[in-house]
Amino acid sequence: MAVPKRRVSPARQGMRRSHHAVKPKQIAYCSHCEQPVITHRICSNCGYYGGKEVIKAKEGE
Ligand SMILES: [Zn+2]
Repeated sequence: MAVPKRRVSPARQGMRRSHHAVKPKQIAYCSHCEQPVITHRICSNCGYYGGKEVIKAKEGE
């Protein structure tokens, strides 16, 4: 089993974890229905992505 050669100091541990923060999700507005959508995803409201309909939006559910 691999064993660490020396203990990581609290300062170095903090340096490593400085990249671990979670950023808030980026929000854009759908060009078709103006609903807030996650960028680079198909709109969950109307099924549009990149100016055309990609999937059929759910109706009456
Ligand atoms: Zn939409």
